[in-house]
Amino acid sequence: MSKTLIIAGTHGQEPQSSFVARKLIEVCGLKLRSSEHFDFYTSDKLDIIPDLNRYGLEHATRGNINGVDLNRNMPVSNWSSECSNPGYYPGTAPASEPETKALVKILEANNYPVIISIHTNHFVANANEPQLNYDGSERSLEFAQSLADRLELPLTRDIGYPTPGSLGTYCMENNIDCMTLELDDNLSNEETWSRYGKSLRF
Ligand SMILES: [Zn+2]
Repeated sequence: MSKTLIIAGTHGQEPQSSFVARKLIEVCGLKLRSSEHFDFYTSDKLDIIPDLNRYGLEHATRGNINGVDLNRNMPVSNWSSECSNPGYYPGTAPASEPETKALVKILEANNYPVIISIHTNHFVANANEPQLNYDGSERSLEFAQSLADRLELPLTRDIGYPTPGSLGTYCMENNIDCMTLELDDNLSNEETWSRYGKSLRF
């Protein structure tokens, strides 16, 4: 049976994403499977990683302990060592970071057709509006649009700036449909849950 994976807490300055993921774990009754680099919770239909960047969440930094943006460190064809802003530091090589390696292992073992990656639109160098950014095929477009409608977010197909080494690109290259949620960063943890939480229950 195919499952959906939700990933949150990729960027430590976006703790609302992690808060929402932990609430979902609670209300949907997921069980903790492992907690080596990050917590990995599972159930029959849904898996959740609420704290991909555990160090970043503990220290309110975008990057991990090595200052690496985990959403620029994925092993993809367009990974690049160049970065225009330290906030997007991609690391020394694709999948150089332990969190990335552990995530790729989970992705390879589970063949998820759909991943939902929760972020907030915390400003780094490119302003972006709250949105559901869809990197995927026609297969899940209807689901992506209905999720966007429920969340009252516009569905976009292009975030508007290059994101080499991102999870979205990894998904495109590995036949996974990826929905990246950029929730409103101005909301508190509780406000984020009450605005978006019920639309994320599966
Ligand atoms: Zn983010």
